[in-house]
Amino acid sequence: MTKLVVPIFVTAVAPAVAAMSHARAAGAEMVELRCDLAKAPVIREVLAARRGMRLGDGHLEVILTIRSAREGGGFVGDDDTLAQLYHQAMVGPDAPELVDVELEAWQRSSAVRQVLTNATGPQSISAARLIVSSHDWTGCPADLDALLAAMHEVDAAAIFKVVWKAQNIVDGVRALGLYARHVATDKRPFLCLAMGEFGVITRLLAAKFGAPFNFATTGVEGGSAPGQPSLAQLTNLYRWNSQRPSTRVFGVIGWPVGHSISPAIHNAGFAAVDFDGVYVPLAVEPEYDKFCSALDAIRRCPGLNPGGVSVTIPHKHHAMRYVLEHGGTVEDIANHIQAVNTILLAPDGTMTGLNTDYAGALNALTGAMRVDRRSLNGKRAAVLGAGGAARAIVAGLAAWGVQVTIFNRGLEKASTLARDFAGRTGMVDAAPMERLRERVYDIYINCTPVGMSPNTEGCPVPEDMPWNSRTVVFDTVYNPHETKMLQLARAKGAMVVHGVEMLIQQALLQFTGFTSQPAPEAVMRQAARTALGQG
Ligand code: NAP
Repeated sequence: MTKLVVPIFVTAVAPAVAAMSHARAAGAEMVELRCDLAKAPVIREVLAARRGMRLGDGHLEVILTIRSAREGGGFVGDDDTLAQLYHQAMVGPDAPELVDVELEAWQRSSAVRQVLTNATGPQSISAARLIVSSHDWTGCPADLDALLAAMHEVDAAAIFKVVWKAQNIVDGVRALGLYARHVATDKRPFLCLAMGEFGVITRLLAAKFGAPFNFATTGVEGGSAPGQPSLAQLTNLYRWNSQRPSTRVFGVIGWPVGHSISPAIHNAGFAAVDFDGVYVPLAVEPEYDKFCSALDAIRRCPGLNPGGVSVTIPHKHHAMRYVLEHGGTVEDIANHIQAVNTILLAPDGTMTGLNTDYAGALNALTGAMRVDRRSLNGKRAAVLGAGGAARAIVAGLAAWGVQVTIFNRGLEKASTLARDFAGRTGMVDAAPMERLRERVYDIYINCTPVGMSPNTEGCPVPEDMPWNSRTVVFDTVYNPHETKMLQLARAKGAMVVHGVEMLIQQALLQFTGFTSQPAPEAVMRQAARTALGQG
């Protein structure tokens, strides 16, 4: 089982002891005492204080770490000082269970080697176990095989730990692939982490890859390296206790992606139906070549077992292109929309591109109107905006016979969109924004970001819209839950459709694509509302 470790920076006794106590209460199974800047008496007193901190049948376990400035820590002393610090911490009844030494210090210093050889292992003075580690804050080490081979030569090592700063998502996925390379040559436990936004997946999936431990924050402190999740995120959101080697990995590719609520929605759904999957954010920079290398790496990573990805801004067109260029199939309507927001990855390597945005929007609309899609035939709709969301919605409306007029501040873009879908069952045309009030429509749909948080006072339509109880007003903006435009519609007695409903409906369809099971709708809806802070 992968233990959750909270790092604590030790400078003085009282705050370190308080932090240990807090970490234990928050659910940590172990703490890492980062003693880079601590004096030996302080280290010994802190180690003694944790004796009374029980965790289940045993006490709170400790990793002792003295991280050098070279590898991102604060220790600047020489090797003899380092050896002395290790020695003084390791003698006596309060020795830590694990002690970290950097591979370079081990190779360089016979004093360090001697102290730690005496202090670790079954026959030693403390029975502590030795972690041999390597940290590169510039990027992925050039020769990973040589690094692993050098580590494996350390007979005294019980655990290996390799960490680097991920410069892109490929660096993050490479870290996950290293587990398979390690296991092929050495059976001792292994942890490989990538730092930063691009390495977050290595921390979220460490349990699936069988790492001996993984670092997390209590949610109050910032952690010891960029990208560290909190204990609560790992256990409540990322299905920490359900991860195993067979677990299929899903995720959302976007830029930026940190704000996405899709992990909350899908992981809640997976948990509700006991599906062996986990869903993570995948930050991929905006260019097509970045998208290609990310998806290539994900598909080829040994042991990852990817099941599919959601795709959001700015990669929906890239996703369609990638699937087509790599021998996959794209459903017809996604081809017409020129955007794929879901890629299904089968175990045999085949790929299918779908667009659940259009169907999600249609489901949100017809669900609120309590009609089926056929009843939309002949209705008139005004769509505001001509970007990606409008494209998917116009495609869906036109396919079911709705007469659509697209209003956009830039008429040319609206006209191009109208031309793409005119003649596909419904009738689609374009008009400048100023003409919005000239006709009365059955359905109004905002597909611009106007009204979105933090600019919640914005409204894409004038106050004197000709709306009444027969009008349907749909705002794709979902934050805030009820936008200015929807407030106006409600005040005029119109039927309102919330953007979050589209978000949920498209996620339900994705879920079924990912799992081949009906989606647990109530659970996923609640997860979305909670993640958005909407109850
Ligand atoms: P997009 O491709 O960037 O298109 C944005 C559209 O809005 C463009 O037509 C743009 O006009 C117009 N626009 C932007 N700022 C405007 C302003 N200040 N005044 C008037 N028009 C403006 O974005 P998108 O992907 O279509 O997304 C648009 C919105 O849809 C998002 O903000 C999001 O809230 C919502 N959305 C919701 C869901 C959901 O599941 N509920 C899904 C996707 C999107 P120009 O062409 O003139 O620039």
